[in-house]
Amino acid sequence: MAHSHPELTKNQSLVFGSLSDAGGPLTAYAILDALRDSGFRAPLQVYRALEKLVDYGLVHRLESLNAFVACSHSGCAGHDTAAFAICEKCGLVSEFTPDKAIAYLKDWTGEQGFQLSRTTIELRGICKQCAAA
Ligand SMILES: [Zn+2]
Ligand SMILES: [Zn+2]
Repeated sequence: MAHSHPELTKNQSLVFGSLSDAGGPLTAYAILDALRDSGFRAPLQVYRALEKLVDYGLVHRLESLNAFVACSHSGCAGHDTAAFAICEKCGLVSEFTPDKAIAYLKDWTGEQGFQLSRTTIELRGICKQCAAA
């Protein structure tokens, strides 16, 4: 496992491990299937662990895929803003940090007095490799 986090419970580290090993997004049910041999029985066990991992910033939720992905910033203590480019052909998900967009959004929310807690930007489209194929 690339990451180790002293505060993680056994279930949380198992879930985080399966997401890290996958190298891409997984649904909660795919995680449950992968962890049946490790004693996971109910979706709720997976959801509870995921909820905490998302809170810690180790895992991001991809709303448009209804899936979860390990944060690709290794050693990072978590971040409130994440952006993903999702290929609709091959399923490749690339995480990046859109600094200019973040600055713009922070200005806007500041002006509006909107209390921002988390931002996830999801770009859907076709990746470079698929576009070239
Ligand atoms: Zn991240
Ligand atoms: Zn692709």
